Amino acid sequence: MRRPIVVGNWKMHGSRAENTALVEHLIQGLDGRQAAEVIVCPPHVYLQEVVRQTKDTLLHVGAQNVATEPSGAHTGEVSAAMLKDVGCRYVIVAHSERRTLYREDDAMVARKFRAVLSHGLTPILCVGETLDERENGTTEAVIARQIESVVAVAGIDTLAHAVIAYEPVWAIGTGKNATPDEAQAVHRFIRDRIASRDGNIAAGLRILYGGSVKAGNAAELFAMPDVDGGLVGGASLKGDEFMDICAAAG
Ligand code: PEP
Repeated sequence: MRRPIVVGNWKMHGSRAENTALVEHLIQGLDGRQAAEVIVCPPHVYLQEVVRQTKDTLLHVGAQNVATEPSGAHTGEVSAAMLKDVGCRYVIVAHSERRTLYREDDAMVARKFRAVLSHGLTPILCVGETLDERENGTTEAVIARQIESVVAVAGIDTLAHAVIAYEPVWAIGTGKNATPDEAQAVHRFIRDRIASRDGNIAAGLRILYGGSVKAGNAAELFAMPDVDGGLVGGASLKGDEFMDICAAAG
């Protein structure tokens, strides 16, 4: 039985005052009846404060990005050890905005994935195709490449300690989500592909859907058998809506 997860990716939004109010709202709403594990990923500069505010609550904290390197002369970077030190549990790796806007390639993604795991944090590895790739019929090839490039470096066993988020690039921030059937088909593909290497890891792996998840579509997406929750951008900034999405996850 896979416990669902709902992750809020705040991206580069928020302020101390807004975060405090939003987190308080979520803490009040998480009364223990939700089956899903709920995580918020604030910008780095706010992590420590959100970790403090969520101490001993049902809300957990993740980071949106991590350095490939453990320490040293890397101005502006934040290491996995630092994220661990301030109390993060999860790290989003390879969000499509990082892949495209900041040119993170597969090799860099694999190094970040390994850095996160080596500090006992859980990577949320994002994969997904662009609209062109979907229309060219290369969705599965793209996703296989994105996963294989990590597995080749980190090993298949590491997926026992990771979460995968399938985020079709054309659905992120566009208001146009994948249909439940489209999402299920790709999630099934991912699970089958991993099962061909290790059935137990595939069966236990949580695969989240991301891309314009809202209160109005979350239940039908999360009802699909291989969809184990969601990675939520815009809607995670609205307290009531995010709580409704969490409730839809079980
Ligand atoms: C995301 O940021 O990962 C995301 C899926 O954004 P949105 O929910 O706004 O599409």
